[in-house]
Amino acid sequence: MAAFDVARIRQDFPLLARKERGHVLAYLDSAASSQKPQCVIDTIAHYYREQHANIHRGVYRLSEEATAAYESSRKSVASFLHAPDARGVIFVRGATEAINLVADSWGRAHLKPNDEILLTAMEHHANIVPWQVAAERAGARVVVCPITASGEVDMAAFVKLLSPRTRMASFVHVSNALGTVNPVVEMTRLAKAVGATVLIDACQSASHFDVDVTALGCDFLCFSGHKVCGPTGIGVLWGRPELLDQMPPYQTGGDMIQKVDFAGTTYRPAPERFEAGTPHISGAIALAVALDYVAKLRPDAHTYEQHLLARATEKLRAIPGLRIVGEASEKVSVISFLIDGAHHHDVGMLLDADAVAVRVGHHCCMPLMKVLGIPGTVRASFAFYNTEEEVDRLATSLVKVRAMTSR
Ligand code: PLP
Repeated sequence: MAAFDVARIRQDFPLLARKERGHVLAYLDSAASSQKPQCVIDTIAHYYREQHANIHRGVYRLSEEATAAYESSRKSVASFLHAPDARGVIFVRGATEAINLVADSWGRAHLKPNDEILLTAMEHHANIVPWQVAAERAGARVVVCPITASGEVDMAAFVKLLSPRTRMASFVHVSNALGTVNPVVEMTRLAKAVGATVLIDACQSASHFDVDVTALGCDFLCFSGHKVCGPTGIGVLWGRPELLDQMPPYQTGGDMIQKVDFAGTTYRPAPERFEAGTPHISGAIALAVALDYVAKLRPDAHTYEQHLLARATEKLRAIPGLRIVGEASEKVSVISFLIDGAHHHDVGMLLDADAVAVRVGHHCCMPLMKVLGIPGTVRASFAFYNTEEEVDRLATSLVKVRAMTSR
């Protein structure tokens, strides 16, 4: 992997130099949140030092400049997603808010009694609970597509569960708990063929490879900025503008109205309709910088991450008593696993003692864990800034953990 200069890339990420207990921290939790390159950190500082004013309302130059920077970020996000029209890009707090927005607003406009909302068994809670609430309000039903033993969507079941009653199909592009890459082009095509509206949760794909809403053919797609090297508190809902314009507001207040009168209020079209109040201006501006940063590293970064995944998979498979959870044929650089006789929390704490940071637990996928018959897993997730040496440190540390816990 000489072509990908990870040592140089790591210099862009100040936090990766952090030391713990005499070791440089091995940060293997990028699926939860990625670290931030200096250009993103600098953009935020520069914004508050030199650019800040409230947007959209000012007639003075500073406010116009801040507005232009914010709106230019919207265009950058549209181009990152290959969306033909930046009007479809709504800035939200993250994927959670994006799905709540669609479930609430689209749900109120379209869901009727006995309609079905098709999800998969590997969804994050953020793509389950908003639909349960919307279904309950409308008298509709949540239907769950099962997964196979290797952790892939059971496509035969998916086809069977689709029907003219399916009003919405909402599924994850890449599973945060298993790393599985779902065949979302095919899933979207099948769902659209029965007349369903399709939402794709791209939270774990946008950070790894190109996401193209035009090629995917979906109606809505969302992701969180903090998983793609951007700030926390900013994310994106993309929707077809013609669909968004027909949806009732999710939140109301300033900036999203055409005219307010005590006799009645009218609303602006998308995207303003869904951005009530002062938005996360610095977050949106820094997000565009983050997306530009990751896009420039593609596709080599993904090839490199796949190399790390293959190395980690091989090393972990060689550890007796370690079981990898999720062996889909197409995966991103995420490995969930369990060690016989060791609680996943204890494994996480023992790895922490060696300055190896992983995530443990249900990964906000309690229904998936129930299907798998396990309480949770240990999850190591690799980004393009991780190294072979960090993969090896994980494996060495796990061999120690295994020796300690199998006594
Ligand atoms: N969907 C998936 C697949 C995720 O991995 C996550 C976060 O882990 C979310 C949704 C929710 O993202 P956020 O907490 O940034 O809103």
